Order: sequence, then structure tokens, then C-alpha cells
Amino acid sequence: MQHFSRLLPELRKKKLFIFLDYDGTLVDIAPTPKEAKMNESRRRLLQNLKKKYKIAILSGRSLREIRKFVGVRGIYYGGNHGLEMAGPGIRFEHAKAKQARSLIRAIWRASRKTLGKVEGAVIENKGLSLGFHYRLVKKEKRSWFKRQVLNLVKPFPQISVQRGKCVIEVRPRVEWNKGSAVLWLLQKSGERKAIALYFGDDLTDEDAFRALRTRGIGVLVARRPRKSHARFYVRSPREVEQVLASLL
Ligand SMILES: [Mg+2]
Repeated sequence: MQHFSRLLPELRKKKLFIFLDYDGTLVDIAPTPKEAKMNESRRRLLQNLKKKYKIAILSGRSLREIRKFVGVRGIYYGGNHGLEMAGPGIRFEHAKAKQARSLIRAIWRASRKTLGKVEGAVIENKGLSLGFHYRLVKKEKRSWFKRQVLNLVKPFPQISVQRGKCVIEVRPRVEWNKGSAVLWLLQKSGERKAIALYFGDDLTDEDAFRALRTRGIGVLVARRPRKSHARFYVRSPREVEQVLASLL
């Protein structure tokens, strides 16, 4: 795996479609999701980048929230790992995922009575999915907490779980991930010929790296290079900011 800066000189003149994850990519991971706010200099950077390139933010958060947190108009947004997307001329909600909305809500209600009372736990209701965050849950309580989440969804074959950094996500079991979302956006935006650049730090980003292996550039955000479908890496959100700035 090579550091992404090696590629910068040749990319500057190319037509790019830049895809960015949010947490751990555009902002440092915070103790709770609410605290991971993007600073003004990164917002300005995105404002400038969008004049030159197509930009999409693909996050595990809800579409509504990710739009609010980033707050830049005229770019594409994908919430719930691409199950819902919006942007210039685009509105999308995965049809089969939509059908699971009421079940997701029922699981959320049931979970609040028990798991919601666990000290440090944050249960995030994202409409199409739920996030059970345990970063602030005591170490000795975590495996119990995770087991409870799995037990909660076990009766429902239409629901699946996905693990991330100190979070278990409960979501509709559908064949759709960040990789599908990237390919879909490339096509719908009429940017089939653009080079897709994808920055991400977590497991769900691997789907996008894999989808782009033959037709784009995956950049893993990680302090140390690790096993990944991405061919390049940068070390931190701060470095993401630096390399993006040098594309201007
Ligand atoms: Mg992330």
C-alpha cells in the first residue's frame, strides 16, 4: 500500500469524482456521534473543491443528519451507507430497505427499554437503520451489550447487523452497500468517465474500495496501512484535508 501523495501530481489535471466518508475520514472520530462536527476550514475546502470536481459524501449516518453536519450545497449526499441519497437532480431511497422502516422503528423502541439504560451507550435512530454505539460503555459490559443487540434482531431474517468502529449497526438485509452507491452515483450523475476517488476508514468503506478496484482509486484513512482493498492510504482526517487542498 502506498501513500496517496505519490499520486497527486498525475491526478491534478484529471476529471475526478471525489467520494468521502464522514466519521474518521472528514472528521476525527468523537466519543459520541453528535460531537463529530466538521470545522469551518474543511467546509470551505469542500466549497472550493465542488467548483472543480464532483463531490459525494457517503456516510452511515442518516441522510438528513449528514447533510446538516457537512452543510455544503450542490454536492451529493448518501446516508445509511447509500440506502438513501440526494444531490443535484437525484433522490433515491432503496425500495426494499424502505419496507423495513417500521420494523426498524419497533426494534429501536424495544431496545431503548434495556440497552438504552446502559451507561455510556448511545442508540442512534437513523430511520433506515440503528446504530448501537458502545465506545463509552465500560469494557467489561461490552460483550454483554453486543450480545443483547444480536439477540434483539435474531427473530427477524429481513434484518442484518454490520460492525464498525465501536458500533453495531442494525439494518435491512438488502444487497446494497457503499460500493453499489458509488457505482450508482457515477452512472446517474452522468460522470461515467470520471476517475472515482474514494476516501474511507472503516469496514463499510471496503465495499466501495472493492467496487472501484478496476475503475477508481481507493484511499484508506488509517494511522498504519492495514489489509484493505484500497491501494493507497493517508494517515488521518487532517491528511485527507491536506491532499484534497492540493487538488485545488
Ligand atoms: Mg468512517
